[in-house]
Amino acid sequence: MSGIVRQDKLYIGGEWVDPIDGDVVPTIDPSTGEPWAEVAFGGPKDIDRAVAAAKEAFEGPWRRMPVTERAALLRRFAEIYTRRTEELIQLEARDSGRAIREVRGDVGNHANWFYWFASLADKMGGRTIPFDESVHIFTTRQPVGVVGGITPWNVPLLSTVWKLAPALAAGCTFVHKPAEQTPFTAFELARMGEEAGLPPGVLNTVPGYGPTTGAHLVGHRDVDKISFTGEGRTAAEIQRAGAGSLKRYSFELGGKSPHILFEDCDLEQALNAATGSAFVVCGQSCALGSRLYVHRSIYGRVAEEIARRAGTIRVGNAMDANTQMGPQSSIAQLEKTLSYIDIGKQEGATLLAGGSRIEELGKGYYVRPTVFADVTSDMRIAREEIFGPVVSLIPFDTEEEVIALANNTRYGLAAGLWTRDSARAHRVAARIDAGIVWVNTYRFIRWSTPYGGFKGSGVGRENGVEAMDAYLETKTTVISTTGAFA
Ligand code: NAD
Repeated sequence: MSGIVRQDKLYIGGEWVDPIDGDVVPTIDPSTGEPWAEVAFGGPKDIDRAVAAAKEAFEGPWRRMPVTERAALLRRFAEIYTRRTEELIQLEARDSGRAIREVRGDVGNHANWFYWFASLADKMGGRTIPFDESVHIFTTRQPVGVVGGITPWNVPLLSTVWKLAPALAAGCTFVHKPAEQTPFTAFELARMGEEAGLPPGVLNTVPGYGPTTGAHLVGHRDVDKISFTGEGRTAAEIQRAGAGSLKRYSFELGGKSPHILFEDCDLEQALNAATGSAFVVCGQSCALGSRLYVHRSIYGRVAEEIARRAGTIRVGNAMDANTQMGPQSSIAQLEKTLSYIDIGKQEGATLLAGGSRIEELGKGYYVRPTVFADVTSDMRIAREEIFGPVVSLIPFDTEEEVIALANNTRYGLAAGLWTRDSARAHRVAARIDAGIVWVNTYRFIRWSTPYGGFKGSGVGRENGVEAMDAYLETKTTVISTTGAFA
């Protein structure tokens, strides 16, 4: 791709329009540190327009449309997504800096979210509630209304698909505010929605800055629900800002997931998972196995092997098919990761691999896959989410001890454990406080598997039937069979 690509219109109410109080701003290719596109950003007035369009679409065609027709539109969306997969892969890798081979493995699956949630659209029925002959009581499920979808920069398309597919299947309309660092592919979603024939206003796309455009969406009184993925600190701000309007919220937040290797594990598989899950998305994944607990009897061998493997990872331009790990998504994230690497060194952890920026790769935001050993649970690198390719190795002796260590965190998103002892697998999995626990695998996430955090990792679930709950209200209807007021 040569020259600067220009996407200078917002998508609001089924039309491509100039921002009223926004701007057209460059978006940076993290592999080169140079702008590669110019993108329309909206301001508060653009959000007002988008919310008005979403409200009109909700009250008009969308909620009244027979549910099978809504499902058919979602399937059409999925077909277009499938047809455009290769193009989406290129754009997503360019804008986010995620290695294209990794993006390819991911984006190829996205259409399944639309197919699967389309199939749920007409199955979210209510139930009848027995009482006595004087009343018939039943529940129905109704869409919540206008959803504000606020998404992060690490996996821009996927994090949006997780919200958009169930929200539309439930009958909600959607105003999307993608992350300022990675706005580009959000417009492609809008284009696909347009081609699929979504009625105007069902999907609206307004990139912009979080504290202004995002905050305005959160505070808007005609937005019924905010579905947010991002940092816990931002979620707390959102809750404060939206407090006056009593919205519904779901939050997918950060993690510091424990990944436990017991002494009886299949070591080769466990090492593959430990290395893969520490450095995937250049460490910018909420489900990263960033706290690696290793039984003391295999600790030395694991440390040596993880460090060796980290040193062989091919880091480079995201668009290069041979690259295994791309750059960090932004200069700010690069700086954050480097500062945590310094903190780890100062805290007295042993640096086994990496530990610096890759200056030889030029202006891109590259950092070496980094392995710290002799990490203790009180160190900041073991407690705080770094969101970079940094893994902390922590030895343990007993099952009881490692369960306590794993749960000693304010997060609770995901966990992994490796053992050949199935009784132990059940015992430990049951006691770990996390929204998902992987046994002898890691990062297995599909459209049908509920995903979300315990504790500080979030509120609500995405994926699975549970994701529909986030976009539906339950209504109880009580009908008297006697006409008498009881
Ligand atoms: P962030 O909170 O800085 O930004 C996320 C989004 O919120 C962006 O679109 C941003 O513009 C917007 N925003 C910022 N301030 C806002 C405000 N005051 N009001 C409204 N919107 C605002 O997060 P990030 O740095 O983009 O993303 C990284 C975080 O996301 C990490 O903590 C990661 O763990 C988390 N994450 C979680 C999951 C999950 O499923 N649990 C998935 C991916 C990422």
